[in-house]
Amino acid sequence: MRTLFRGGLVFDGAGKKLDGHGVLVEDRRIRRIAPLAEFDGYAEAAVDTSGGTLMPGVIDTHTHLLLTGGPDQLGPLETLPATALALGALKHAQDALLGGVTSLRDVGGKDFIEMRVRDAIARGDFMGPTIQCSGHIICITGGHAYRIGRQADGVEEIRKAVREQIRGGADLIKLMATGGMSSPGSDPGASQFTYEEIAAACAEAARLGKPSAAHAHGGEGILNAVRAGITSIEHGAFLDETGVEEMLKRGVFLVPTLSVSHWTEQNAQRGTIPQFILDNTARTKEARKRNFKRFYDAGGKIAMGTDGGTQYNFHRLSAYELALMVEAGMTPVDALVAANASAAELMRMKDRGRIAEGCYADLLVVDGDPTIDILNAALSERHRMVMKNGVAAKRRA
Ligand SMILES: [Zn+2]
Repeated sequence: MRTLFRGGLVFDGAGKKLDGHGVLVEDRRIRRIAPLAEFDGYAEAAVDTSGGTLMPGVIDTHTHLLLTGGPDQLGPLETLPATALALGALKHAQDALLGGVTSLRDVGGKDFIEMRVRDAIARGDFMGPTIQCSGHIICITGGHAYRIGRQADGVEEIRKAVREQIRGGADLIKLMATGGMSSPGSDPGASQFTYEEIAAACAEAARLGKPSAAHAHGGEGILNAVRAGITSIEHGAFLDETGVEEMLKRGVFLVPTLSVSHWTEQNAQRGTIPQFILDNTARTKEARKRNFKRFYDAGGKIAMGTDGGTQYNFHRLSAYELALMVEAGMTPVDALVAANASAAELMRMKDRGRIAEGCYADLLVVDGDPTIDILNAALSERHRMVMKNGVAAKRRA
């Protein structure tokens, strides 16, 4: 099966825009990108992208498939049976795909349920994005999100906790380096694991070939994680000058997750979000944007992530993070790269996140030019088509 995309612009996912080119998809992959003249006489299936842009699908490197986007984040995880959670996770993965997300990283689940969804989609049993999973988050006893986490204290125990996640099928390791917004009584600025504990976890993950991600807001927790060898800092609300320097020196990614505070604020008036979350959001919102911009201006590596599934942060809305990154000071092109080539680099996927010959056909056709107006990529009503592994997952009527 071959499909030719032609008529509109092509954004390659790494920063380059092409005009007057056709992109030929054959079976699951992108076979050929060439000036239109080369396709003269082509008479098989074609998609007219005139007035729009063909770009790689969005990649969300920080989401939680088991979380629903409801105001009570963790409650359902404690009360629903595994079967219901698995069906919910599958629906959320498919919601993300329909919203333009062709790959995602789950950074905190329960009982490895989300991995069964990952595997079922990868086998082709269901339509859905490519998924990587961390398994349980690893946290200190009573630490941030301990209700769903694997609590571990000390170097030996954290090493064992890492091995348990990898035995369960983890593609990466997720650690809680500081407190968070959504745990009552937790101070997002306070560090939790020690440097030694994080270093042991990162070393064990690296030895077993896995990247590591640290939830970290406070400056000290960020430094602990970065110096201990972490692959990415998630959130980074209070990222300071030293943190930026150390991250740049080591090539550590930042996954800013601006969606969390945006959707919390947008829905604050409903009266359903716990007050301490609203307080934490108000307290960190400006810092989050300012420090993201500081890291961006310094030339740091940024990958898009949403923290999808947290309150009112619905999986179908993931692409809106693009608009929030632009609002916080990124150029539209750089925001798109963060959601395409850079996100794929963080996820170690060499053949996704770009429009290049040989890459998988994970594609999005959007209205207009998203490098000028980011909303063309950020709003799913402006998506004309979503393609996953060469198969159309959504076509706008
Ligand atoms: Zn998260």
